[in-house]
Amino acid sequence: MAHGKVRVRFAPSPTGFLHVGGARTALYNWLFARHHGGTFILRIEDTDVERSTEESVQAILEGLAWLGLDWDEGPIRQAKRMALYRAAAERLVGEGRAYWCLCTPEELEVRRKQAQAEGRSPKYDGRCRDRGHRKDGRPAALRVKTDAEGQTVVEDLIHGPVTFLNADLDDFVLLRSDGIPTYNFAVVVDDAEMGITHVVRGDDHIPNTPRQFQVYRHLGLPLPRFAHIPLILGADRARLSKRHGATSVMAYREMGYLPEAVVNYLARLGWSYGDQEVFSLEELIRHFSLEKVGNAAAVFDQGKLDWLNAHYLRVADPARLADLLAEHWVQAEVPAAAVEATDRAWRSAVVVAFCERAKTLRELAESSRFLFDVPVPIDPEAAAKHHTPEAMALFRELLPRLEALPNFTAAALEACYRGFADEKGIKLAVVAQATRVALTGRTVSPPLFEIMVLVGRARALVRLRAIFPARDRLSPPVRPL
Ligand code: GLU
Repeated sequence: MAHGKVRVRFAPSPTGFLHVGGARTALYNWLFARHHGGTFILRIEDTDVERSTEESVQAILEGLAWLGLDWDEGPIRQAKRMALYRAAAERLVGEGRAYWCLCTPEELEVRRKQAQAEGRSPKYDGRCRDRGHRKDGRPAALRVKTDAEGQTVVEDLIHGPVTFLNADLDDFVLLRSDGIPTYNFAVVVDDAEMGITHVVRGDDHIPNTPRQFQVYRHLGLPLPRFAHIPLILGADRARLSKRHGATSVMAYREMGYLPEAVVNYLARLGWSYGDQEVFSLEELIRHFSLEKVGNAAAVFDQGKLDWLNAHYLRVADPARLADLLAEHWVQAEVPAAAVEATDRAWRSAVVVAFCERAKTLRELAESSRFLFDVPVPIDPEAAAKHHTPEAMALFRELLPRLEALPNFTAAALEACYRGFADEKGIKLAVVAQATRVALTGRTVSPPLFEIMVLVGRARALVRLRAIFPARDRLSPPVRPL
């Protein structure tokens, strides 16, 4: 499909952080705009003064920025556009398409309850429709005269035609008695004024769409196209919520996910392109289409996100991850001063050594935090297995050779260990595992000689000597770093 001037918008209500579902809606709009060389607009729907907060606006901007979803226009705030909604409202009143309603909330509530008790639809009964009320200082809401007959068909790009009976609509409110426009009114005035060509949003808004059609029709405005994206569900097929785990995009940053992994994951959550799972941003832009967004709800799959994140950790520039790793060490309670004392080259080397086994930056930070520990907590089972009297006796012989090495490099260390094992007719693993447990506290780690270099000569020797009882140490302790 060729689109001349695609204009789409992401229109969050700032009543909380950027949710995973909202982020995906933003992403689909952004990809659609970028694919068509169109315009992506950010509109903040902040007319609900009680629920909207500046903090949420900032959280949403921060979430979008972290994902790299840049907008071409905005953020446009609805709260600053009241004059526009009021002008549209006045026009509708002037043309007899909308009317002032003096029914109080209490009266409406009584009637709603009564209708329900009598098995009737609880919709507004239209009693102020033909009363010709004027705005005279009494609290009045503005209602639209909806069509009582016929049907509204929403030609949805994802769901196909969705039909609604107009008889089910009531004369809904456009302006509340405090003058604030309702969502269904402001959204139409704005989408039209901003020249939105495609409304791409969550399918929880499908029931609102026939109401919005009424506003388009009464204002004589052309309809945009609509594409309603199915919801995201948790593994239990209930709507994704906090009890399924993190739902805030920034929580994923905290947990050590990379934005490119989250973007790739969210893009494929509901949109398909054959069997391909890993997409660069360029590929997503090139291939994305609304037609390939499925119409069934998508189930959030943490395992797949982890898999993608592990992939991106391995392909990302280690120097970039080095700085992120520093933040995660601090989160993992490595003293900030110790983290600050590291340099980027060293941190990059840590990334290279450890990223093979990590699914997140948090895991990377946790698996490498022993590098900072003084002393290293040693797993007793690992010690029982690898610090046997025989292994210790051999290790005691090896230690002075390590201390005497002129260059503490992986190659020199390896040659030293291999030479020693050959000479003694033992397996390299005997001394290597004894060393690994002393240095890392565990039996599993990235390649030993790389770890020795990362720990550094002085610190490594302290750790290696520390496995012998103090009275028994062979050489004077070296000064810890
Ligand atoms: N403010 C609405 C929301 O956050 C926007 C809906 C729409 O995109 O029309 O759900």
